[in-house]
Amino acid sequence: MIQTVCGAVPKDALGVTLSHEHLLADLRRVRHDEASVLNDLDMISEELKPAVKLGCRSIVEVTTVDMGRDVTGLRKLSGMTGLNIVASTGFYLKEYHSGRLQKATVDDVEEFFVKEVNVGIDGTDIKSGAIGEVASSEKIYPSEEKVLTAASRASKRTGTAVFTHCDMGRLGLEQISLMLGQGMTPDKLVIGHTDLTADADYQIKMLKFGVNLAFDTIGKSNYLSDETRAEVLIKLLEGGWEDHLLLSEDVSKQSYLIRCGGKGYTAVLGSFLPLLRSKRVPEEQLHKLLVENPARILDR
Ligand SMILES: [Zn+2]
Repeated sequence: MIQTVCGAVPKDALGVTLSHEHLLADLRRVRHDEASVLNDLDMISEELKPAVKLGCRSIVEVTTVDMGRDVTGLRKLSGMTGLNIVASTGFYLKEYHSGRLQKATVDDVEEFFVKEVNVGIDGTDIKSGAIGEVASSEKIYPSEEKVLTAASRASKRTGTAVFTHCDMGRLGLEQISLMLGQGMTPDKLVIGHTDLTADADYQIKMLKFGVNLAFDTIGKSNYLSDETRAEVLIKLLEGGWEDHLLLSEDVSKQSYLIRCGGKGYTAVLGSFLPLLRSKRVPEEQLHKLLVENPARILDR
């Protein structure tokens, strides 16, 4: 079963899934920037409609506690849009870590994650169906190591998938070594943002550990063109890694929204998918990236 903000659903109910998104988040505390706030339910629900029209059925929402997570808002959004939304438990980059988290032990953080997965979040009956996005900076700082370690242990205990943030796509191998070293199942680990590196050799080194990679910055053309992303993705597909790849957009601020001139939550289904089809990527492979892989990884 897969835990959504409206309860557990069977694996085959998930359908087309974006596997690393932010619907409600507030990063002002660190970014000091009004554009880093996504908190208007009507606005986000309007932004999601075109994605739903294109066939999106489910979203893995990886906003952490310290990114301004709002799970009751996510439950409302699920009702407004009909989307399955999987909420996460987790802590983000070190600048976001509270004094309380700094003082906590690995065990404290592990117990917190397990409670949010098994019991509920903030006194509600809404449970986390994923752990994410747990993160590393240009190096793995001690409080980030603590969070990654706790995430791996909580995954091992509960079978919950973990979604990570690699700053500029780097340190994926270090994250893998740390997290698999704590005993979690490789197939429950989704390493995030490594598409930004456009480095297939690096990505194959990671895939050989049995983990999954999310091409989850699709549409962010200020970093990398989707044309290049598609070329690298096709290399990996041709290498036989189709069971370990996922797609998403990581919309994290207002400028990516359609109302601000961006592609919003449609970059994958509205632009990238047609691009992959024009390059003759078989439908069965697209189905794996968007439907089968996320469902298998999230199911427990
Ligand atoms: Zn993200």
